[in-house]
Amino acid sequence: MRRVGAGVIQKTVRELCIKANLELRGDVLSALRRAKKKETSARAIRMLDIIIYNALIAKKKRLPICQDTGMVVVYLDVGQDVLIKGDLKKAVEKGVLDAYREGYFRKSIVSDPLIRRNTDTNLPPVIYTRIVPGRKIGVSVVVKGFGCENASRTKMFRPTDPMSLIQDFVADIIKELGSKACPPMYIGIGIGGTLDKAVSLSKEATLRPVGESSKSRHIARLEKDILKKLNKLRIGPMGVGGKTTALGVSILTYPTHIAGLPVAVNISCHATRDARITI
Ligand code: SF4
Repeated sequence: MRRVGAGVIQKTVRELCIKANLELRGDVLSALRRAKKKETSARAIRMLDIIIYNALIAKKKRLPICQDTGMVVVYLDVGQDVLIKGDLKKAVEKGVLDAYREGYFRKSIVSDPLIRRNTDTNLPPVIYTRIVPGRKIGVSVVVKGFGCENASRTKMFRPTDPMSLIQDFVADIIKELGSKACPPMYIGIGIGGTLDKAVSLSKEATLRPVGESSKSRHIARLEKDILKKLNKLRIGPMGVGGKTTALGVSILTYPTHIAGLPVAVNISCHATRDARITI
């Protein structure tokens, strides 16, 4: 059994929170650059230039990519042969607290969703812990702004519904949003499981590098078709028009019940931020 001190987790979460807030994912940056090459609208090219420049400045000057430094979502894939010494939940929370204090990041969390008093710590994060084979711990930290999180939706389809209805469901969300979720977006879709499983898959789907397709052929086809449909909307970067409304579509699936077809859509903006490490 490998022993890992909770202090290591705290330090790791702190570092990942800082990295995610200051450094745009390499795959997202590359996708923005590819999109710029394909654009023909001068306004869209200018907007993509601004978005790319903003990301480069943020990294260089150690400033947040966006003022909305988000709610932190932490995925912990804990190897079953690892023994964590100390309080894991407290370690994760302390890591978030340290990062948000040291980085002077905006604190955006309210303690009670109805009374709405700011915790002034950006705590608590949302933590998902999964047990996996092995002696390692995978830590992924997502920094989720709510301009795009608010746009996420879910729907229980009928098993007999055609794929085109799922495509229309996603396109209608994006059409209604326009520029609100800071396009170009990265669309995570969860299909299958139960309602909650589909929602959790849809967020996890945005962890997959932009431009990578599903290994399953029919799902890869669906990703491609939805992306095409979204970019035909011509909302464009930050809503100025153009070919790039979405940078990519990533779908994760799970077996489901014979009587149901849950679908969830998680929208991620051009500041799709996460950082991860295996320890
Ligand atoms: S949607 Fe994204 S880019 Fe827009 S304000 Fe929110 S976090 Fe920032």
